[in-house]
Amino acid sequence: MKILVLNAGSSSLKYALYENLGKRVEGNIEHIGEPNGPKDHRTALFEIERELAGHGEIRAFDELDAVGHRVVHGGEKFVEPVQIDERVVEAIRALIPLAPLHNPANLQGIELMRKLIPDIPQVAVFDTAFHQSMEEEAYLYAIPLALYEKYGIRRYGFHGTSHAYVAKEAAKYLKRAPETLNLITLHLGNGASACAVQRGRSVDTSMGFTPLEGLVMGTRSGDIDPEIPIFMQKEGMDADRLLNKESGLKGLCGHNDVRTIEKMAKAGDKTSRTALKIFSRRIKKYIGAYTALLGNVDAVVFTGGIGEHSAMVRRMVCEGLEPLGICLDDTKNRKNVNIVSTEGSGVKILVIPTDEALEIARQTETVLSVHKL
Ligand code: ADP
Repeated sequence: MKILVLNAGSSSLKYALYENLGKRVEGNIEHIGEPNGPKDHRTALFEIERELAGHGEIRAFDELDAVGHRVVHGGEKFVEPVQIDERVVEAIRALIPLAPLHNPANLQGIELMRKLIPDIPQVAVFDTAFHQSMEEEAYLYAIPLALYEKYGIRRYGFHGTSHAYVAKEAAKYLKRAPETLNLITLHLGNGASACAVQRGRSVDTSMGFTPLEGLVMGTRSGDIDPEIPIFMQKEGMDADRLLNKESGLKGLCGHNDVRTIEKMAKAGDKTSRTALKIFSRRIKKYIGAYTALLGNVDAVVFTGGIGEHSAMVRRMVCEGLEPLGICLDDTKNRKNVNIVSTEGSGVKILVIPTDEALEIARQTETVLSVHKL
C-alpha cells in the first residue's frame, strides 16, 4: 500500500511517501507564495509529484493507494482519524475560528488533492484527537461555563499524533501493552507540550485552547498570569505577537535554538543558563503535577528535537526528581541511548525519536482497512 503523508502549512508543504509503512521518500517544499519558492500550493504539489516520479516511486498521484493529511484542529468532533468526504471538509472548515493559522492551510492541501485524485481515499489525522479522551475536569477552564458552550473555549491539547506515537513506542521498549502503562510524555521541539497518559489514553496535557499554554517554548511563553496579556493590550502592545513570537527561550535570552543556548551557557553566559533553568523548571513542575494525577508512573518519555538530543536539558529536568523514583543515569544520558534511567529507577526514563508522518501513515492505513471490512 502506497500512502502519501502531507502536512500543509501556510508557506510550506511537508511530504513523505510510505510503502507498506516503510518510508521511501520525504521532503519539504518551503517558501510557497514567496519570490524564491513555488507560486502556490498547487504548484508545490506538482513539484512533489515530479519528485516522487523522479525517484521511480509512482508515475503520478493516481498510483497512490491513499493520502493521509495532518490537520491541526479537530475540535470536539473528531476523536479519531477519519476518511475524508465533503462532510469532513466542511467540519474542518467550521473549525477555522479555533485554529485560524493552521486549519486553512491543512484544508487547502486536502481540497487540492481531492480535486487532483478524487477517487483515491484520503484520511484526516488530527493533532487534537488523542486528547479527546480527557475528562471534563481536565479540559474545562474555571471561567463561565457559557463560554465553553457558546465558543468552545476549553483545553483541546495539540501534538497528539506525537504523544500517541511515542506512547506506543515506549510500550515496545518496556515490553508491555500500551493499555497497561502510565506515562508522562514530553514533546520538546520548537513547540513543546507534556501529556499524562493513563493506560494508553491522554488524561491531561499542557497545551490548551491554543498551543500557547503550558511549557516554555522556543518563542512562546507557555503558562503566565492571564492578566499579563490584558495589561499588554491596555499599554498598546501587541500581546499576540509578544507571547507567541517574542517570548519563550527567545524572549529570555535572544535565541530559540537550544543548541546555541547550550553552547552559550557552557561558555558561561548567565542569561542563557537562566533561560535553560526556566525552561527545565517548568517541565519539572509538570512532571510533578502529572505524577500526582497518575498516581503511578511507569516512564517519562522525552521526544522532539530537544527531548531527543539535549542531554543537558534532560539532566536539568530530572535533577532532584529521585524522590519521585525518577533516576537518570548520567553516562547513558550523555550517550543519547533509548533508556537513560538507572537500573534501579522505579520510573524508566526513555528517549524516543518521534515520527509523526509514520503515525499518520499508520492511522491512514488503519482507517482504510476498517472501512474495507
Ligand atoms: P519542530 O517543533 O519545529 O518540529 P523539532 O522537534 O525539530 O522542531 O525541534 C527543534 C529544536 O530542537 C531546535 O530548535 C533545537 O533547539 C533543538 N535541537 C535539535 N538538535 C539539537 C541538539 N543536538 N541539541 C540540542 N537541541 C537540539
